[in-house]
Amino acid sequence: MPRDPRYDVLFEPVKIGPVTTKNRFYQVPHCSGTSDNAPDANTRMREMKAEGGWGVVCTEIAEIGNTTEFWPFPSLHLWNDADIKRISRMPEAVHRHGALAGVELGHVGLAAGNRASRTPPLGPTSRLTLESVEPFQSKMMDKQDIKTVREQHIAAAVRAKKAGFDIVYAYAGHGLSIFSQFLQPSYNTRSDEYGGSLENRARLLREVLEGMKDAIGDTCAVAFRFGVNEIDGDLMQGQELVEMLKDIPDLWDVNISDWPEDSQTSRFSNEGFQEQQIAFVKGVVDKPVVSVGRFTSPDTMFSQVRRGVLDLVGAARPSIADPFIPTKIDEGRVDDIRECIGCNVCASGEMSYAPMRCTQNPTIMDEYRRGWHPEQVPTKGSDDSILIVGGGPAGLECANILSKRGYEVTVADARADLGGRVKREAALPGLSEWLRVADYRLYALQQLGNVNLYTDSPLEADDILEFGMEHVVLATGATWRRDGIGRINLTPVLSGDEANVLTPDDIMDGAELTGPVVIYDEDGAYLGNVIAEKLVKEGHDVTYVIPAPEVAPYLALTMEQHKVIARLMELGVRMERLKSLKAVHADQIEFVCVHGGPGLTLPLGTAVVLTSKTPEDRVYQDLIARKGEWADAGIKSVSRIGDCEAPSIIAAAVHAGHRWARDQDDTKQHVPQFLPMPLAQ
Ligand code: ADP
Ligand code: SF4
Repeated sequence: MPRDPRYDVLFEPVKIGPVTTKNRFYQVPHCSGTSDNAPDANTRMREMKAEGGWGVVCTEIAEIGNTTEFWPFPSLHLWNDADIKRISRMPEAVHRHGALAGVELGHVGLAAGNRASRTPPLGPTSRLTLESVEPFQSKMMDKQDIKTVREQHIAAAVRAKKAGFDIVYAYAGHGLSIFSQFLQPSYNTRSDEYGGSLENRARLLREVLEGMKDAIGDTCAVAFRFGVNEIDGDLMQGQELVEMLKDIPDLWDVNISDWPEDSQTSRFSNEGFQEQQIAFVKGVVDKPVVSVGRFTSPDTMFSQVRRGVLDLVGAARPSIADPFIPTKIDEGRVDDIRECIGCNVCASGEMSYAPMRCTQNPTIMDEYRRGWHPEQVPTKGSDDSILIVGGGPAGLECANILSKRGYEVTVADARADLGGRVKREAALPGLSEWLRVADYRLYALQQLGNVNLYTDSPLEADDILEFGMEHVVLATGATWRRDGIGRINLTPVLSGDEANVLTPDDIMDGAELTGPVVIYDEDGAYLGNVIAEKLVKEGHDVTYVIPAPEVAPYLALTMEQHKVIARLMELGVRMERLKSLKAVHADQIEFVCVHGGPGLTLPLGTAVVLTSKTPEDRVYQDLIARKGEWADAGIKSVSRIGDCEAPSIIAAAVHAGHRWARDQDDTKQHVPQFLPMPLAQ
């Protein structure tokens, strides 16, 4: 299909200093959970964005020198000339597809651990460092340190130019930069020419930007990434800084700070959520402006450009969920876009030192390791028919890829709607965008046409043996346990028959509750607090009890924990920490202190218990037990995938479904490369 002419503006070239991008699609710097731990995997991921049509593709932070050491967090390095060869693969790969390559040079100041060098992290003043809970303080930089940082930054810019980058950044965003720390009066109480007035606090930044322009500005664009509220949350000072430096950088990459604010989840913000704060920048500067806002809709992108909010449509998460957004818009295939759901599982990779995962895009970070292309799959290797039991994220992804490969596929689900847990969870407060996981796959399946979808079809082993499909894939999910077994209690604390105990499955099935409600959450992720929100909004008195020191520990990795706790406080939810479930009685619930202190007894109407899940693998086990009957039924294999194999996050189920579908009849026997890989020189 031809491109919708309304979107032509998105495909206009834009001049950025001495370079020109072919279109307005701009992948802003974002981390990958790998960096120099797996440079080939990282490079291939970036290359995929360029192949998918992004005009500019940027790296994550590249450390400028030995005074800013991120380790063990993954990062790139431009410490010395020996680093040039390794990092140069990224611009080489990106250039193959006509995109520009950008590199985000970074000195993280107080956020550095400097664990390997064991030199003190640097800061404008001596403060507790931001990187860990250890009682480390920064060294207040003296004039020599300031000179060193300035020179390291400019030397790294020269190396970036030699490595082939077109756009080189100075970075003052996300509370992760020495420049931001100098800019903020709360960190910078110096009395010399680098402290005091905004002009003084911006001096190091200005010196670096001007130095970069002198050193590399003939062929490279110098970009400045700035959190507009970076200066102690004060937008006025942010505006003053933009005014002050407006003529220096070739490109303004603006967002809101810190990282959890910049990467807000869909539970707390909508597409385009940064517009209000960043919109002033275009009115001040004459240079191109790029910003972000979880843009997945070409209408929003087009609207932001047309209304003069930005010149370049920035994206990190949307480009992870679908590296081919620009191509799809260009080819008039807007409905094929695999839209980011705003869950931040991607960010949890970096936070846990692991290669990035994505709920929507199972191929991310497996482009090199497994050779997966997000848009291309091998054609089928046989004419075998395949039955998938369960139409949740695992089953739908498996069906989608198998039918793309050309297989004849049947999906049967017991429920009236397809989508499994996604369909059910998306009906809870704040999770509606999660439905995109099911919608994207159902739409794709409808286009493909070689798949039979059956709802209201609970299957037993007898039915499956009767069907006589060659391959059977059980994607039957998991259910929440009723016996209280979880992370803390490893043996049952409940009989499972208590009439006043519900699980999240019951809540999603619309069970009736009587108050007061006590939610006990050992899961530590989103569901417990989303249910709390739902029940309070329905008028229940809710107490939320957790064994952890803080609510929703997993959400620290998705950067939502703070917002979730604030929301629960706002809703008046009583929170009780460090208590584990002991017993449920007719009108009371008992907890013990995890440290052996005083326990807690609460009055109870209904308890909602989130501990762990039981794989729904009964039908799988029945079929395994009847292996002797397979041949007569024409069955060649029976497998299980997703939560039915091992309950986990939705991203894991999608990945499992994808992997099964790719591997079917694959004679090449790909052996995934292990990560981390040795640094390629
Ligand atoms: P996953 O996350 O692994 O995809 P889900 O729990 O989201 O798992 O989805 C599992 C789906 O399987 C649910 O929609 C459920 O209704 C369906 N299901 C479970 N058991 C059967 C069965 N015996 N026959 C048909 N469908 C089933
Ligand atoms: Fe979007 Fe979630 Fe994928 Fe991140 S993991 S890109 S937030 S869908």
